[in-house]
Amino acid sequence: MRKHDGNCLFCKIIDKKIPAYMVQDGEHAAAFLDITPRTMGHTLVIPKYHAATLADLPDGEIGPFFSAVKSVATLLGDKLGADGLTIGMNQGEASGQVVGHLHVHILPRFKDDGGGAIQSVVHRTPVLSLQEVLRKINSQ
Ligand code: 5GP
Ligand code: ZN
Repeated sequence: MRKHDGNCLFCKIIDKKIPAYMVQDGEHAAAFLDITPRTMGHTLVIPKYHAATLADLPDGEIGPFFSAVKSVATLLGDKLGADGLTIGMNQGEASGQVVGHLHVHILPRFKDDGGGAIQSVVHRTPVLSLQEVLRKINSQ
């Protein structure tokens, strides 16, 4: 299944209207090199279905999408000799999402590359206790 947005940058990359260095081009997902790489091999994996967030992506597309994330992560790790990978996504403006088409960043990591762990993106001590947060999450 494919949903398309003619104004979306990443839909245009899927349609080959904008060129990209394609790492993988499958039926449900595509992967291409980020135009502003933060490390060698910085790659974006996107579903071919236009969705801004995970919640907008139909359940049937989730499996194929994350299979692509897995295969691209394995490929990059093997071929670029990475010592590790950071795999993550920005969802929503507050998190730093700029392109409104869901994408997973895969950043090959190298020993002593100077980068941090994914937890380093934000440091704000919560006001609520863990118990209070869980109560909030589980409230009706
Ligand atoms: P976000 O902050 O939305 O998670 O990240 C969007 C990413 O898309 C950025 O890392 C940016 O460098 C990348 N990007 C933006 N425009 C293009 C483009 O035209 N081609 C490619 N390959 N990457 C892009
Ligand atoms: Zn799109």
